Amino acid sequence: MVQETSRLDAARTGPYAPGVGRGPALDFDPHQHRASLCALIREVEALVLEQTNPEQPLSAAAMHRILRRHPRQGRGLYSHSELIAGYRAFAPSEGFVLGEAGFIARLQMRPVRTQSGVTPVTVLTKPFPCPGQCVFCPNDVRMPKSYLSVEPGCQRAEANGFDPYLQTYQRLSAFHAIGHPTDKVELIVLGGTFSFYPESYQVWFIKRCFDALNDFGAGRDGRALAESQRLSVHEQRVRLHGRDLAPGYNRVVTRFLRADAEHAVGEDLLRSFEHASFAALHEAQRENETARTRNVGLVLETRPDHIDEAEVICLRRLGCTKVQIGYQSLSDEILSLNKRGHDLAATRRATRLLRQAGFKILAHMMPNLLGATPQSDIAELARVFDALHVRWRYEPHTFVLRRDRRGHVTEAFTPDFYLPDLDYYVECTVARRRLTRVKRRKVAEARRLYGIMVEILYRADFETLARRWALRRLAAALDRSRP
Ligand code: SF4
Repeated sequence: MVQETSRLDAARTGPYAPGVGRGPALDFDPHQHRASLCALIREVEALVLEQTNPEQPLSAAAMHRILRRHPRQGRGLYSHSELIAGYRAFAPSEGFVLGEAGFIARLQMRPVRTQSGVTPVTVLTKPFPCPGQCVFCPNDVRMPKSYLSVEPGCQRAEANGFDPYLQTYQRLSAFHAIGHPTDKVELIVLGGTFSFYPESYQVWFIKRCFDALNDFGAGRDGRALAESQRLSVHEQRVRLHGRDLAPGYNRVVTRFLRADAEHAVGEDLLRSFEHASFAALHEAQRENETARTRNVGLVLETRPDHIDEAEVICLRRLGCTKVQIGYQSLSDEILSLNKRGHDLAATRRATRLLRQAGFKILAHMMPNLLGATPQSDIAELARVFDALHVRWRYEPHTFVLRRDRRGHVTEAFTPDFYLPDLDYYVECTVARRRLTRVKRRKVAEARRLYGIMVEILYRADFETLARRWALRRLAAALDRSRP
């Protein structure tokens, strides 16, 4: 296995080899730091073997002490990815004892992301008009509709010119550099309404992601070609923010895509190379079936009113396994107030069609929309529980937290929901996290006094809960809360 990994690394040489590409995790040549890296690695290994349980990862404090003893040639401390790069580069000649996998396991600080064994690779489509007019949707014209350029994933996409090959390859390289597995990958394609992009762009985009998976696994590197095709939104001079809706996202983006001579090809705002046939896509998918970096899931996002029988067939042909769909609200009144452009019946129809076709569904809900109240959001969450067949009771228990000297209750806590099948409480809030200090203290106190399991759902968690069909998040929270 070690030999195979070394061969793979050796094959990735040249200007785009891991260690030379864009981004801090990859911009590092371990050979220039050989002496300090080897000393550092030996010290880590010695400390691991001295532990009572050598299977345990090193504590953050112990790791930090070692890193401080071997500073990075006058420029701060070595990062984990740099240590791993050093291990991979020098293990064959230095005879380190833990082996690459063992060394990474003792270092890895955030294994959660890939703990399931599947590495999520998120890529964004290019900025493109969207048929929706939702009032809550941001208008950042450097991004595909509904995304903001301040988010890390969006910045990665922008840095890679929204090119599917570059985004996929760079993300895999980054995961590899910090020791995550890259043999099973879930591709998550985000950006506006995927169903509204021209079909040939959709096919090309997915095909290029598969090309990157196949190339990465085989130690090939096609980034030089992709670099020449990347889109630069830095040339996009108009900025729209907040309420500045005129001239509107769609018009600005359309003008930008047309301005480039390359984009002038046809009316579909695509460049000449942004086309592929289903036959070419299926060929790339077939190759991937036996590749070392295999795709095990493809997530695409769309709106309920774009799902019909033809779209379901198209999603299936693209290889989609999971559809990320924006419910946003289950109230026709709130959907209309927010100019969502579809009603609850469309959501029901889309869900039925997707279920019949066997897709997994990630449903997005948005609390605090125009016209919503904390009570209506809580009622919506109850409807989500119902849809998931999770039994619930609303505010069935009050936990006394404090009494005065005469025994009168001075402080109590009543979680919003109790889920009897999970023996679990859920408390909801749409307040900002920094304003929920008292609530968090009460939850901690109730946990301490009564041993109950309580999860606070923040604004973003409402979305996550619905998106993950509730059970995964709750299951993880249950795991965390076990004594
Ligand atoms: S459909 Fe989605 S991307 Fe389009 S405007 Fe509405 S929220 Fe934004």
